[in-house]
Amino acid sequence: MNVHQSLSVSRRDFLRNAIGATTSLCALRPLSAMALSGGRSQKAVIITFGGGARDDETFSVDGQQYIPNLLNTLAPQSCFFTQVINRGILGHYVATASIVTGAYETFDNFVAQPPAYPTIFEYFRKDLRRPREDAWAIAPGNLFAQMGASRNRRYGPAIGAELLLPKHLLASVLGTANVPLLDAYPNLLRGNYEQPDVANSEGVSQDHEQMERMVERLQLNSADLRARVAAMRSPDELSVYFAKHVMRTFAPSLLFLVLHDIDIAHSGAYSLYLDGIRSTDRLCAEMWREIQSNPEYKDKTSLFIMPDFGRDGDGDAGGNGFQHHRTGSASARTTWMMALGPAVRQKTVVQRPLESIDLAAAVSRVLGFDPRLMQGKPIPELMG
Ligand SMILES: [Zn+2]
Repeated sequence: MNVHQSLSVSRRDFLRNAIGATTSLCALRPLSAMALSGGRSQKAVIITFGGGARDDETFSVDGQQYIPNLLNTLAPQSCFFTQVINRGILGHYVATASIVTGAYETFDNFVAQPPAYPTIFEYFRKDLRRPREDAWAIAPGNLFAQMGASRNRRYGPAIGAELLLPKHLLASVLGTANVPLLDAYPNLLRGNYEQPDVANSEGVSQDHEQMERMVERLQLNSADLRARVAAMRSPDELSVYFAKHVMRTFAPSLLFLVLHDIDIAHSGAYSLYLDGIRSTDRLCAEMWREIQSNPEYKDKTSLFIMPDFGRDGDGDAGGNGFQHHRTGSASARTTWMMALGPAVRQKTVVQRPLESIDLAAAVSRVLGFDPRLMQGKPIPELMG
């Protein structure tokens, strides 16, 4: 048994108890024709449990204490995949772009650029002739600013996603002077955790006109926003706030939310990394509750949750345990995925290995578009 498999087996064993599910497919229930074919009324929300969460602090026996919401509320009603392998580059933007395109992107992770392969947003909008406001991506910072559309000439920005960068939007609503804002919201405006030198440059380089239009369309009220952000503790809380706001304003059929708080692990503080996992667990449950309480989403939305990748194992040569994701080991590459909602099978645990690029194929099935250039494979266990 290799390391990928043993991580998978440990998840399977406890999930069998937690979910009360069989690990085979013998308990499958029949699905409606709508669920199998996708359709106009179906919606999909994708959340990356990012950036970079190990098995040790999530679905391992010792890690379960940090994910009570995933474990007790979401997993028991999900289709859970115990072994999802990311065979691509373990950098957050390039990995997220690969999830969005369903193909392994190979560009430099630290250079913001459009993916080479068409994104799910472009396939969806082109095939189903949807307006821009029906596909949204909410991402943690500048580096992700071009994840909403590819450089493929048959697709591209004209049919890409509406992209929202929460920190930029906050800066736009609450003022244009960067320094006072950073002083007021040092935790919310943090840019990224891997390039400390540029960490605080977020929030100033945005196209102000574009931001003003976004503020207007979302009908954001500065006094209301100021009051709400006063209680927020992390960038991901801000992202979820805007995600819910977008859902209530535009009710997009396709919403991709990139979470990133966990990557604070690069600081080397294990307690902050654990705080990030606890917070991400709570925010995933908050998004599921929003789906259930919003009539535009309830009973017609599939929610997919998956980490972008793991982090280095404690024993990995050349690594420093949880702090980074540099070794390319099984611990850094092996993760999990859960899917919830009426269009997917529930109470099912699937052990067969998947790849992280397969998620996009699952989304294409739910929404009913043709991902022509995708490398990811269909997941028959999910829907039939
Ligand atoms: Zn990282």
